[in-house]
Amino acid sequence: MQRVRLLVFNAALGALDYRVPEGMAVEPGAIVVAPLGPRQIIGVAWEPERLETAEVPASKLRPIVEVLPAPPLPEPLRRLIEWTADYYCAPMSSVARMALASSAALKGGGTVTEYRLSGNEPQRMTPQRAAALDALGGEQATIRELSAIAGVSEGVLRGLVSAGALEPVVVDVDRPYPLANPDFAVPDLSPDQQSAADVFTAAVCDGGFHPFLLDGVTGSGKTECYFEAVAQALRQGRQTLVLLPEIALTQNFLRRFEQRFGVAPILWHSSVRSTERRRAWRAIASGEAQVVVGARSALFLPYARLGLIVVDEAHEISFKQDDGVRYNARDVAVIRARFEQVPVILASATPALESMQLAEQGIYERIELPDRFGGASLPDIGVVDLREEVPERGRWLAPRLVKEMEERLDRGEQSLLFLNRRGYAPLTLCRSCGHRFQCPNCSAWLVEHRFTRRLACHHCGHEVPTPDSCPECGEADCLVACGPGVERIADEVAELLPAARVAQATSDTLNTPERIADFVSAAEEGAIDVIVGTQLVTKGYHFPELTLVGVVDADLGLEGGDLRAGERTYQQIAQVAGRAGRGDKPGEVLIQTRHPDAPVIAALAAGDRDAFYEAETQGRRDAGAPPFGRWAAIIVSSEDEAEAKEAARAIGGSRPAHPDIAIHGPAPAPLSLLRGRYRYRLLINARRSAQLQKVLREWLEPLQFPRGVRVGIDIDPYSFV
Ligand code: ADP
Ligand code: ZN
Repeated sequence: MQRVRLLVFNAALGALDYRVPEGMAVEPGAIVVAPLGPRQIIGVAWEPERLETAEVPASKLRPIVEVLPAPPLPEPLRRLIEWTADYYCAPMSSVARMALASSAALKGGGTVTEYRLSGNEPQRMTPQRAAALDALGGEQATIRELSAIAGVSEGVLRGLVSAGALEPVVVDVDRPYPLANPDFAVPDLSPDQQSAADVFTAAVCDGGFHPFLLDGVTGSGKTECYFEAVAQALRQGRQTLVLLPEIALTQNFLRRFEQRFGVAPILWHSSVRSTERRRAWRAIASGEAQVVVGARSALFLPYARLGLIVVDEAHEISFKQDDGVRYNARDVAVIRARFEQVPVILASATPALESMQLAEQGIYERIELPDRFGGASLPDIGVVDLREEVPERGRWLAPRLVKEMEERLDRGEQSLLFLNRRGYAPLTLCRSCGHRFQCPNCSAWLVEHRFTRRLACHHCGHEVPTPDSCPECGEADCLVACGPGVERIADEVAELLPAARVAQATSDTLNTPERIADFVSAAEEGAIDVIVGTQLVTKGYHFPELTLVGVVDADLGLEGGDLRAGERTYQQIAQVAGRAGRGDKPGEVLIQTRHPDAPVIAALAAGDRDAFYEAETQGRRDAGAPPFGRWAAIIVSSEDEAEAKEAARAIGGSRPAHPDIAIHGPAPAPLSLLRGRYRYRLLINARRSAQLQKVLREWLEPLQFPRGVRVGIDIDPYSFV
């Protein structure tokens, strides 16, 4: 009798043993269906010596049902799943679930019926039908997907099928993707770029684990350089994974990729439609997918022939996932490259301190691009001291910044104002009774969105229409907006420069690929004079006529005393500054601040990156903070406040005594109520030599909590709220 151990998709069960029926072969990594009580579950066959479970006698084992028609998860991926679960103290099944991100793909190939406009008008036209036909355009997808795209019910669409206005198209799930051509449009590289590209291509040729830090100033052509490594992987028939921090950046990337290689890469992120995910997953697992570009969720897919990993804008904190498995995709990408024995390139103009330190130690090879491409120079950075250059009453832009914007407008150049706050105002209060609008589910203020006339919580999505009178005292017309958001700054620009064409660039306005594409072409064609945006516009974009960047409030990110506040502020401002003067005209940056002497601001103004990194490194070393020491957080939450507090106290009460580990708390988390859950937090600071994960597991595993309590472990946390 043959026994097989399965990793099953249930965190409480973990691993279970089964019997392999006569005539069936199950290799490690195989994805199988097995019985569990009256139900059937999916599991992955695992090496029994690597996965513990209770011993069950052979006579008690139930047979597995079938091996699914999908390739087994490759060995390097199995090792990565184990590593990730171990390092981040997460259940292995939760990590493995990310690898099987399309359940439809597991059922094998086959066909799906999609629908598209036939060109025939239905005989009977209703407003809903007209709206649907209008919204569908060139789309081809399943009825369910079209219903989401067009915003009408599936019934309406089926009616259109019967009426002959939509026609069915049978498509093969495994139809091949068009092939990228590594020699489609080879660029002329500058000497610096060429030597960087040569190092990368050699590493791809040689194979083997080789981590690089591509440290190049904004506009130096980092993308062009790593594209040469992608070209080499293509020539060798190996797959490339490019991770981007945000979906908003993929449009821009797609276009450049197409210009270089002749076809689009394969996209993977949360808004990719399920039929496309199914197709992509199968092509990735079979090895046919050549280049996959995606958000962090693309990292755990079962690439059959991975040859290269690129993490672009590698310093971005959105690579850190803060729910479910709390992992950092930048770090896991390097580990994956090690298991796969392939090169990995972390590209950034403002690398994370952790990455700098690894380069310093020679663990990462640092490749530098110190100059902008095509002779463009880096912008001049000036500081506006808001204590001396005071904006007019009720305004937020200092006179000097406004004057510079006027000059740009006169010369037909563009300005960009950066403020990392969506909406009109972060706080609304009643002038008459002082009532402040707060989220009922979170300890946070509601943000006014004047355009949609709503008050919204940016943490949980709770929204109410902006009322006409105060709900507390009943007074009418008494609500005051406090502080600026992007919408308010855009209003101010419209008042000060009535001739300017102003565009807002936030996740509220640029929330579909079409809107992003429209924004980018409008900016490139000079149809926008002033862009007002959040961190969404700080990276990736290249607008040659943009010559002025104004940072509305540089102090915003420094509040709160977060461990990385200085670093994050430095990165954000350096990145947004990097949007200025990328064409032949020189750029200028004005930073509005009340703390011109803060080390971050001073370093930015002096253009002295090294000084900033040195000071920050020293500070971290003194504090025993990463990368010199390690942090972890334990977050305890419950809908019942007393229960959360009690659980946190129980954890605190059983804290281990360890010479290399300091434990702070429990204390209410800064966001003490989030999505209706009360939150307490413990912070752990450990020396690098301490076995942090082992200590955490031995501490928490024996403890029992009521059902409503969640205990989350966050290793190397980025969020301290
Ligand atoms: P970074 O990512 O380093 O900020 P990009 O890769 O966006 O820089 O490059 C900046 C701009 O310069 C882009 O528009 C890019 O197309 C252009 N560019 C860079 N290198 C070359 C090159 N060798 N040939 C032509 N254009 C280039
Ligand atoms: Zn909320």
